[in-house]
Amino acid sequence: METKKDFHMSPEDFRRYGHELVDWIADYQGRVENLPVLSQAQPGQILSALPKQAPEQGEDFSAMLKDVEQIILPGITHWQSPNFFAFFPANVSGPGILGELLSAGLGVQGMLWVTSPACTELETRVLDWVVDLLDLPARFASTAAGGGVIQDSASSASLCALLAARERASAYRCKDQGCDGKQTIYVSTQTHSSLDKAAMIAGMGKDQVRKIAVDKNHAMQARELARQIEADRAAGFTPCFVCATVGTTSSNAMDPLCAIGEICRQQNLWLHVDAAMSGSAAVCPEFRHIHDGLELADSYCFNPHKWLFVNFDCDCFFVADRAALTRALSIMPEYLKNQPSESGQIFDYRDWQIPLGRRFRALKLWFVLRHYGKRGLRFHVRRHVDLAQQFKSWVEAHDQFELAAPAPLNLVCFRHLDSDARNQYIMDRLNQSGQLYLSHTRLDDKLTLRMSIGQTHTEQRHVERAWQLIQAAAQGYLEKKA
Ligand SMILES: *Cc1c(COP(=O)(O)O)cnc(C)c1O
Repeated sequence: METKKDFHMSPEDFRRYGHELVDWIADYQGRVENLPVLSQAQPGQILSALPKQAPEQGEDFSAMLKDVEQIILPGITHWQSPNFFAFFPANVSGPGILGELLSAGLGVQGMLWVTSPACTELETRVLDWVVDLLDLPARFASTAAGGGVIQDSASSASLCALLAARERASAYRCKDQGCDGKQTIYVSTQTHSSLDKAAMIAGMGKDQVRKIAVDKNHAMQARELARQIEADRAAGFTPCFVCATVGTTSSNAMDPLCAIGEICRQQNLWLHVDAAMSGSAAVCPEFRHIHDGLELADSYCFNPHKWLFVNFDCDCFFVADRAALTRALSIMPEYLKNQPSESGQIFDYRDWQIPLGRRFRALKLWFVLRHYGKRGLRFHVRRHVDLAQQFKSWVEAHDQFELAAPAPLNLVCFRHLDSDARNQYIMDRLNQSGQLYLSHTRLDDKLTLRMSIGQTHTEQRHVERAWQLIQAAAQGYLEKKA
């Protein structure tokens, strides 16, 4: 093979292999349905198939594509399979993938407005579109005192919200002098673990996270929240932050935003609302009630990378008072100083997040919103909720299965009435078969199966087949015992 003088991939090769790779992805989408959903790889299998060192002599791109097929693909759990019902969806789409590709092609590092004005201003515009799309409170728009920013994940959004809350509560002293160790934060026993992690990272400590009890539907008890805040104040703590969830990870429980919001108002606490998966439902007017009370929140986030056809990573994070966020996170070394930043006429999104650097993520969200339009997004979200509601009705009608929680949207928590062992058997057998992928949780101290519906190409026939397979596996348990 002739070695190229400068080692680069030539523009002609880039074009050729680029087309080949796009073809490969399009073919993958066509065959993913027939691949085992949960990777059947053993620990270390992929590792041992890979050379221990990078090659001395550069290789041809076709060699890499071959290894993708032979080594990587067997180690993929197919999140894009229509038979993927585990955890939560991470649905991607043609326009989302192309937006990701364009972002890579432009190779922009958008830390400051000046390092690519379009990277900042497209993001501002698209996040204002999202305020309209979900009918979020007007105060979250950049045209008011708030604004939205794309974070990598809901975990980062929660951490930023917590940092802003802590600064506001300490009159912006924590960032200079450190915390006094007295600030407390409030979540429910069902809140995502990223809030514990945020308290760890912020140096507040997990012990300062108060876990409020939930009601029979696994939603935070507002009265318990009020009681705990009073008790902490009496004990000399400084309550500063509450996280309420719209659609908990475990069971899709909806915390009562109105009641929690009123308490936060009265007590002057920052209210963050985490709607990572379920927020997408608000594209449909009939589901917007999940956000009742959101006008009382200081910040809000949801993940288009879960249930809105945008590739990971894309979390939309909104604040009602952007100055509170940037005051907590802004820092200006000499080498970043520039005239537009000093003019105060622009946003520098580095001041709205933890890292300095940032990718041009708005492109993929923009492409998806323009490709589907509001109508297309509503169509698919509605379709997924319909499928989940059908599945729920089959569970309810069956004499050996029960619902384990209300299923307001696209997640159905259910179980066989017999025993944990039988539910475990159903899940393990189906997941090992590669025919579908389900995950579990524990509710009311019982093993509970979760049917999460929201993959791009999941149709009625996939959900019907899943229900058939679940019933057959439940039957199989008896045969195995006999
Ligand atoms: C998925 C999920 C998270 C975590 O999301 P990341 O974006 O991966 O950090 C947090 N909260 C809720 C309610 C979720 O559903």
